[in-house]
Amino acid sequence: MSSENAAQSGERNEHVWDVVVVGAGPAGSSAAYAAAVAGRRVLLLEKAELPRYKTCGGGIIGPSRDALPPGFELPLQDRVHAVTFSLNGRLTRTRRSKNMLFGLVNRQEFDQRLVEAAEAAGADVRTGVTVSRVEQHGPAVPDRRTVAVVLNDGEVVLARAVVGADGSASRIGAHVGVKLDQVDLGLEAEIPVPATVAEDWAGRILIDWGPLPGSYGWVFPKGDTLTVGVISARGEGAATKRYLEDFIARLGLAGFEPAISSGHLTRCRAEDSPLSRGRVLVCGDAAGLLEPWTREGISFALRSGRLAGEWAVRIAEAQDAVDARRQALNYAFAIKAGLGVEMGVGQRMLAVFKRRPRLLHTVMTGFRPAWNVFAGITRGSTTLGEVVRTSPLARRALGALDKA
Ligand SMILES: Cc1cc2nc3c(=O)[nH]c(=O)nc-3n(C[C@H](O)[C@H](O)[C@H](O)COP(=O)(O)OP(=O)(O)OC[C@H]3O[C@@H](n4cnc5c(N)ncnc54)[C@H](O)[C@@H]3O)c2cc1C
Repeated sequence: MSSENAAQSGERNEHVWDVVVVGAGPAGSSAAYAAAVAGRRVLLLEKAELPRYKTCGGGIIGPSRDALPPGFELPLQDRVHAVTFSLNGRLTRTRRSKNMLFGLVNRQEFDQRLVEAAEAAGADVRTGVTVSRVEQHGPAVPDRRTVAVVLNDGEVVLARAVVGADGSASRIGAHVGVKLDQVDLGLEAEIPVPATVAEDWAGRILIDWGPLPGSYGWVFPKGDTLTVGVISARGEGAATKRYLEDFIARLGLAGFEPAISSGHLTRCRAEDSPLSRGRVLVCGDAAGLLEPWTREGISFALRSGRLAGEWAVRIAEAQDAVDARRQALNYAFAIKAGLGVEMGVGQRMLAVFKRRPRLLHTVMTGFRPAWNVFAGITRGSTTLGEVVRTSPLARRALGALDKA
């Protein structure tokens, strides 16, 4: 059945999708893929036309790679083997690794391929459609097992379960009542550079611990373009912009005209924030699932999206509100037991970093076990949560840093 037929038909009950996913970023595509491979009728709705630009460094760490659909080919622009760390432009030190640490992608290409993977698994995709709200009661909802997804032009799409993956300005998140602990503003410039400059950066990124509490900047090379960005707490817009300008100037890149300059918010959920309401689940940025210190969010989007897709399938099968609630609670439990633990460690790291950036810089650049942990996480052999759970040394170190 085509999505047009499903959406516009008068016989609405015959055209209820099992799962409707809102937003085709990594979280939404991952959810759509998971529900579609389970054999369900899935509709993925995206407001932009694809491929679309997303303000993002495009750093793909091991946990992101591991959460991709089987056979997915990463469109890598570069492979990172070295990291240069600096403290607001000073105390610069480069660490190298024989093995690749992580990969860099352009989000438009990466996201487009993820959508294609969801489509290949059987999901229908509609682009250029903005969801304005969802309704779980009222005249638009034909029965208690159905959710109405209302589009901007008034069209109503019906589903047994809905996954909200509509990013950091999420309307579905507002419906669910997502509560936030931390909101940051990321600013980025895509800077095309001549081949001689690009060569300096090939295979190496820069991380600069910034002048504002909790801020940092980065250079991610992608062939003939450098993605240069900074991130800091929201509310410091002018100072964050100044940091980016100074950072670019300090790197000797001010003479090159950015092809794109943009900004985007990132958000982290409060520990007690809901992840569902009735038959609606949220994942990725829409749920505030993001690593609070590095603001790494692609792996959180892919992993939470997959879980949301799997649990949406069960909610779609639920015959009553009690069963739907049970499945939604299981989803929340799975998120909290995995990503929630990682977020907890990330919050502690951010608190130390805000208080003692120099200490953290010294540990990262001068203490080999800290570098090994960084390399292990970026390669995907471990996660922040696992390190703290399994290594007494890491637990003691984090405890000491908490008090530093
Ligand atoms: C400056 C910056 C740099 C970053 N760098 C990295 C990095 O290097 N590595 C990393 O792992 N993470 C990074 N992140 C975080 C990462 O970009 C996000 O966590 C990630 O994109 C979240 O994916 P998502 O699918 O949840 O949301 P998104 O990627 O934002 O996708 C949401 C989608 O929903 C669509 N949408 C929104 N509203 C509606 C609507 N009403 N109806 C229909 N569709 C809608 C949007 O058009 C969009 O396509 C960075 C973030 C920022 C701001």
